[in-house]
Amino acid sequence: MKVSVDMGSCHGHQMCAIAAPEVFGSDELGNAKVLIEGDLPTELEGKARRAEANCPERAIIISE
Ligand code: SF4
Repeated sequence: MKVSVDMGSCHGHQMCAIAAPEVFGSDELGNAKVLIEGDLPTELEGKARRAEANCPERAIIISE
């Protein structure tokens, strides 16, 4: 599983970083930044899906 953020939609709520702090941080503007390049470790997939579900802007993109 890979995760990315549509920066045009991200509004910097940081709900993603609360749901999955191992996966999401923030950039210099306070918008989301994915901390893991490439495939997520399997044990973080559930947290990433929770972050996707909780993003108010639907800005998190998950691909298999
Ligand atoms: S919750 Fe969504 S809109 Fe908010 S910072 Fe995270 S990715 Fe961006």
